Amino acid sequence: MMRNSRYLVTGGAGFIGSHIAATLLKQGEAVRIIDDYATGRVNNQNAFETMPGQFEIINGDIRDLETLKQAAQGVEVIFHQAALASVPRSIADPISSLEVNINGTQNVLIAARDSKVRRVVFASSSSVYGNTPTLPKHEEMPTAPMSPYAVHKLTGEHLCSVFTRIYGLETVALRYFNVFGPRQDPKSEYAAVIPRFLTALINKTQPIVFGDGEQTRDFTYVDNVVQANLKAATAPHASGQAMNIGCGERISLNEVLKIAGELLETTIHADYRDARPGDVRDSLADISKAQRLLGFDPTVKFATGLALTLEALRAGTSETK
Ligand code: NAD
Repeated sequence: MMRNSRYLVTGGAGFIGSHIAATLLKQGEAVRIIDDYATGRVNNQNAFETMPGQFEIINGDIRDLETLKQAAQGVEVIFHQAALASVPRSIADPISSLEVNINGTQNVLIAARDSKVRRVVFASSSSVYGNTPTLPKHEEMPTAPMSPYAVHKLTGEHLCSVFTRIYGLETVALRYFNVFGPRQDPKSEYAAVIPRFLTALINKTQPIVFGDGEQTRDFTYVDNVVQANLKAATAPHASGQAMNIGCGERISLNEVLKIAGELLETTIHADYRDARPGDVRDSLADISKAQRLLGFDPTVKFATGLALTLEALRAGTSETK
């Protein structure tokens, strides 16, 4: 028997989805979650029990439209985070990535349309811009995906805007720029760079850098991304739009290691390997559109976010924050 939930978080056992769900639950909201635990973890949801809001977890696959239709019943807003969220994974296995990232996204939109959901907020990615030399990247620039994953995310955005135009379903696509924070999986074969670096440093092993380490990213602490999602759920002029979500700060991998070394009071000698195919060289967000349309204000800056992430990893509480 389904409870009444105002919010559905797809991928709510994952890194970003679990933070969105936790924030809503802390506010006392009723939240439903759907996840098939492909990359998500039960541990990410442990802290939900202690929060005032009510939650309901559906162990289900977004490739299954019927399951999604049930999950969307009575829901007002869907935060669609579920995906096979990795560039290298999509290169190694483009078929499953496409099935989840494109077909799964269309299923979410169909279920939302049929259940009269008011708005879907879609997790897109800065990877849609590709390797364009212009920085910062802004939404008027042409997109140029360089990996299957980036194609999937761009297609998801197009599906969102088409569903808005044709069916009147409100949608907002948020182009996340390199999100990091507690609960991000450090162990997977496709782990993101910050949890990989921090775990290596804590375990006193050499962090591996693909390339010369001078490539830059707009690393965005997860709380800023949660804020963007919650604002995108209601912002009156955001529907049908795609916009960047970052901090507008450009940090190289070598700088990440330097700041992490300072926090850990150690000198770091990284193991430099060949650059990976499909990786972009530089990335920096122009966030003025999200500031204008959402009132987005990324308050947690990189160094603070890194310290919080390190603290959670060291305390072994990364998974339950
Ligand atoms: P994550 O892997 O931690 O979370 C994704 C979740 O989706 C996992 O819990 C996974 O089990 C679930 N999932 C995968 N396939 C599913 C399926 N078929 N049915 C149901 N659930 C399924 O990754 P994340 O970093 O939290 O990413 C969340 C979203 O943000 C993704 O859509 C990703 O593409 C996007 N994104 C993330 C970043 C980043 O830096 N982390 C950057 C840009 C975009």
